[in-house]
Amino acid sequence: MGVRMKTVLILGAGASADAGVPLMDGFLDRARELLEGGELNDCKGRIIDVLTAAHDDLLPLHAKANLQVEGNVEDLISAIDMGVLIQKYGERDSKSLNDLRDSAIIFLCRTIEQSMGFPIREGYAHPTQSYDALAEIVAKATKPIGSPSGIGHEVSIVTFNYDIGLELALRYHNVLPDYGLKTKVVTQGQFSRQIKVLKLHGSINWGRCSVCGAIVPTVLAPQGHIVSFPGTTQKNYYFPVLQYLSKVKHTDGALEPLPFIVPPTWNKTIASPELRSIWQQAAAELGSAENIVVVGFSLPDTDRFFRYLFALGVMSKTRLRKFLVLDPDPNVHRRFEALTGSVTRGRFAATPTLFSHGLNTIRDLLR
Ligand SMILES: [Zn+2]
Repeated sequence: MGVRMKTVLILGAGASADAGVPLMDGFLDRARELLEGGELNDCKGRIIDVLTAAHDDLLPLHAKANLQVEGNVEDLISAIDMGVLIQKYGERDSKSLNDLRDSAIIFLCRTIEQSMGFPIREGYAHPTQSYDALAEIVAKATKPIGSPSGIGHEVSIVTFNYDIGLELALRYHNVLPDYGLKTKVVTQGQFSRQIKVLKLHGSINWGRCSVCGAIVPTVLAPQGHIVSFPGTTQKNYYFPVLQYLSKVKHTDGALEPLPFIVPPTWNKTIASPELRSIWQQAAAELGSAENIVVVGFSLPDTDRFFRYLFALGVMSKTRLRKFLVLDPDPNVHRRFEALTGSVTRGRFAATPTLFSHGLNTIRDLLR
């Protein structure tokens, strides 16, 4: 192992796409497929509600304005959010509008759940491939809990993803994700390491306490491992994360029925001191990083707020040694290069690669 360094990994949708979660422009099509396959029967009305909002509700509008929300689920969610704010969306009444906002959350979360298949081998559900490899790299590189400081690299992960593919993989390698929330994650078994996993848009396994408003992470894996399936012929396991919200309680009350996720365009409208604390922690992590690696995050317009968080976050005395962008799209490389200042630009390198192929770069960095 080389000189001890602090590395911050920034993960975007491209990282979870590798595990089966659709990219933002593929969500509506995936939901339609899952609906036709009967995999979303439990929330069929909600899914149809959102698909209607994406298309039929806006049809009369097209003669007077051009609002295209069918391509990208985040654009659709922005439109719904504005609709709730101004109390106007197609012909919907107020109740139907508020229901639509809830439907949008259920739509996002259930589509994610049913898209991320955890492969079953020898009776056990395993982490998805690239997150598994990443978690193994992190587990090898970082300092064991309780060992003296100065050993191992320091790694933090900042992620825009709502799914729990990363956390289940870390858990599998005995790394405890510290979400930076006041309420710590409930899970069984031993952990050898702990790293920060800062989820800037919330998570499908977070609930909000209906009494005090605290954000409470629910169980990561019900049986300590992931899940065992003795003798099953099923190929994949789809973790029913949302079900745990009704089973977990905060000290003073039950959790709200919907997960705490905050799509990017909702940032300003959601007042949550704990989420703001996570953003502050992310800025602090960026400021103290010697290496920053961006994986599958395209710096979309909807996440404009991240540009400011990044720019203000990296302003610090810590010398940034490397700023790497791993992404197949050269436009993404250009966007990040434009974001870097004169000093950072000298450390900037972009590699046209998918997450699965970029893992070697991360492994080399954390050697
Ligand atoms: Zn509470």
